[in-house]
Amino acid sequence: MAKGPVPLIAGNWKMNGLRKGAEAEIRKLARLALKPKKLNCELVVCPPATLLLAMQGWLRAARADRRIALGGQDCHAATSGAHTGDISAQMLKDAGASHVILGHSERRQNHGETDAAVAAKAAAAHAAKLVAIVCVGETLAEREEGQAEAVVARQIAGSLPEGSRAGNTVIAYEPVWAIGTGRTPAPVDVARMHDRIRAILCERFRDGEMFRILYGGSVKPGNAPDLLRIANVDGALVGGASLVAADFWGIARVRA
Ligand code: PEP
Repeated sequence: MAKGPVPLIAGNWKMNGLRKGAEAEIRKLARLALKPKKLNCELVVCPPATLLLAMQGWLRAARADRRIALGGQDCHAATSGAHTGDISAQMLKDAGASHVILGHSERRQNHGETDAAVAAKAAAAHAAKLVAIVCVGETLAEREEGQAEAVVARQIAGSLPEGSRAGNTVIAYEPVWAIGTGRTPAPVDVARMHDRIRAILCERFRDGEMFRILYGGSVKPGNAPDLLRIANVDGALVGGASLVAADFWGIARVRA
């Protein structure tokens, strides 16, 4: 049987975390992630950018920096310049990140990010040698109108720049209505969407079969086994549950 992509479990801390509590939590996660002799999945924690450098130090001190990678939650498309309040991909890299979440629905909704803007950011991430975790997903209204697959197809077509490949790009399918709500789609709907995304990637990219396609939206230790066993679900993007080391590990261990 051909070997598929290595699963990826990524935690999105969003705008949560101060140095004090964060250190204890990441050290707990480091202890848990160091227990297995070998990890069969990749772990990435995406804290607020203010914590990246400190977190890199804590992980190194715990000798867990090879087990837990770090990511940003957004970046600017430019490398530097007059962009008050923004962070470039290079800066994230410089602060210890190897990944960056892009096009999260909260950024698409709250900051008006278009597919073209996400593609420009992804290109900047690639140039800075960051892996772009590109989020796509339909709203509840779009699902109810039967538009979910068309919306996701359009987002993928518009949000992935030339030069995207399995080694520098991950897709996170996150139905907007499942984020932070405790609701998840039926496994059959997750399966159908992930199959469709795989087909889209294979049509456009030679290595489409090797892209990781993560599911995101209310993933918890309790539902992770059912979600992560679905074909073409190559991991998870975890929001709320990633803030608690035991819960994040409870999800990761399903594929660890
Ligand atoms: C997210 O924000 O990417 C997410 C999946 O959140 P949650 O797990 O809390 O639904």
